[in-house]
Amino acid sequence: MSAKIIDGKALAARIKHELAEKVKAEGIKCTLAVVIVGDDPASRVYVNGKKSDCAEIGIESRELALPKETTQDELLKLINDLNHDDSVDGILVQLPLPKHINEEVIINNISPLKDVDAFHPTNVGKIMIGNYNFLPCTPAGVLDLIDETGTDLTGKHCVVVGRSNIVGKPQAMLLLHKNATVTICHSKTTNLKEVCRQADVLVVAVGRAEMIDAEYIKPGAVVIDVGMNRLEDGRLVGDVDFASANEVAGYITPVPGGVGPMTRATLMRNVIKAKNLN
Ligand code: NDP
Repeated sequence: MSAKIIDGKALAARIKHELAEKVKAEGIKCTLAVVIVGDDPASRVYVNGKKSDCAEIGIESRELALPKETTQDELLKLINDLNHDDSVDGILVQLPLPKHINEEVIINNISPLKDVDAFHPTNVGKIMIGNYNFLPCTPAGVLDLIDETGTDLTGKHCVVVGRSNIVGKPQAMLLLHKNATVTICHSKTTNLKEVCRQADVLVVAVGRAEMIDAEYIKPGAVVIDVGMNRLEDGRLVGDVDFASANEVAGYITPVPGGVGPMTRATLMRNVIKAKNLN
């Protein structure tokens, strides 16, 4: 029997609609500054998507597009100006940045109160403690998707494949805060298949196209595919081999239309939250 599809696109649309109603009803006025350096086509698509989400909800977006030759000092000066600009509530620097700019230095210089991506070490620490200003966008979107299945995470074994700072690690923390028993896997994990097969909830963020197939999945498990991989033929696929996993899982997210839209919806929540922090 096929798994039930968790429709991230529909859920994100619902959340954005609710946010738009809130902004309208409460007369909220907030602004997101979106900084893009260079002309990476994928980054341009992401920035346009975020601007269109803002417009849909009634949030003002201010794009600051800088040439790829921009120096680190010039970018830091802009970040500093935005940190002190009272008309800006949230700051988002689209990653990746050109190679000559140190992303860590830039992230560390965004005011934690305007860091709507929740990448600043202060916000990462707050996520660890469980007392956060901002939810990490992708991991929070994953929790909402799991919630859609009606799964109570208490006592469940959740396996997260991937330990990046933006997905795997914060994901594990959020699941832990929901009282799940969490295992984090990575490229050095031995017996990955066996570990994954123990998961009631399997969250996959490895960045390897269609790596996780049915053999990694416990029958009936909830499978959340964070991966986004563009194949040579132009197709966008996840880290999970959807066709085979779909035959074993209880619930599964599609790619596209799963985690991606939820990441964007959480970002919009964070921008509205930032309004009250600044
Ligand atoms: P990273 O490359 O930063 O991290 C990948 C992780 O996967 C690492 O921890 C790595 O382990 C682990 N890994 C790699 N190969 C294997 C393997 N063979 N077995 C087990 N673990 C492995 O990626 P991100 O976390 O940034 O992103 C992961 C995926 O999610 C990508 O496809 C990305 O495009 C997508 N993504 C999607 C988002 C969305 O909104 N839908 C948002 C962010 C990311 P190690 O640490 O040992 O190297």
